[in-house]
Amino acid sequence: MEAGPVSAVVGRFAPSPSGRLHLGNLACSLLAWLSARSWGGRIVLRIEDLDAERCPRKYADQLEEDLGWLGLFWDEGGSKGGPHEPYYQSECSGIYTESCKKLEAMGLVYPCFCSRSQLHAASAPHTSDGNVIYPGTCRGLTAEEIAEKRKKKAPAYRLMVPDENITFTDGCMGEHTENLLRDCGDFYLRRADGVFAYQLAVVVDDARMGVTEVVRGADLLSSTARQLYLYRLLGLPAPEFAHCPLLLASDGRRLSKRDGDQSLENLRARYTAEDIVGRLAYAYGLQEEPAPRTPESLIKDFSWDKVPKKDICLPEGLFE
Ligand SMILES: [Zn+2]
Repeated sequence: MEAGPVSAVVGRFAPSPSGRLHLGNLACSLLAWLSARSWGGRIVLRIEDLDAERCPRKYADQLEEDLGWLGLFWDEGGSKGGPHEPYYQSECSGIYTESCKKLEAMGLVYPCFCSRSQLHAASAPHTSDGNVIYPGTCRGLTAEEIAEKRKKKAPAYRLMVPDENITFTDGCMGEHTENLLRDCGDFYLRRADGVFAYQLAVVVDDARMGVTEVVRGADLLSSTARQLYLYRLLGLPAPEFAHCPLLLASDGRRLSKRDGDQSLENLRARYTAEDIVGRLAYAYGLQEEPAPRTPESLIKDFSWDKVPKKDICLPEGLFE
């Protein structure tokens, strides 16, 4: 990516507020912010509350308060609003429906009636991020079979994918290739309960909000090929991607929202914002010592070259 005029780069925060932020989410937000700001770019905040029941608005509001407390300010979105409203995915069903219709008109969408237990059979092959690779069971259903099945069950909808390799260069992880059919399989656009799939929503929203740079956790690296395919089908400009290494507990466990000890609620009781930012910057190779820092002070020397390419174990005692 070449340095363009100021404001050419648009990065984003796209948190899913099903609980309080944890250190891993914070690290990713910090890197997204630094990467965009290092290009003089802007940041959009989008609330990924597709599953609205799991993501009550109070968590989204808390999340804004936490990001602001850390000094990670955004230019547009969330409760602040802006020209690309709405910024809450739970309010975007009409927009996603339009995109689904475009894909349907291409003959690439089909209803899937498979049950969870059918999909999760022990023999089912899995994607590298742990999802089942759909074997295409419902691909060839006739109109009569579909009509019959519909009487008993509301279907999910899947996008048919071709046997094609998609290769892209990730800003952090380097070149990455996935075969759509073998590594991903036909994927959900909409669940049987009507909730739109992450893969569709994220593409449609990043495009309509003018996002040019997607920074997110490496657990989503393998989603990127599917999303690039959607950008192409929908005729939308694809952003650059940078997938940051995941932060693991010092014993190697994945951090999650269940890790109360690493949630911002507890961290805020023990550390200042500069303490947390400085320690995360240290864990991610952006400074030599875990000294307190403001996000602004890290912009000048930020470079993806400094960020490790593998999961990062929290150094023992960095956050006690
Ligand atoms: Zn099926």
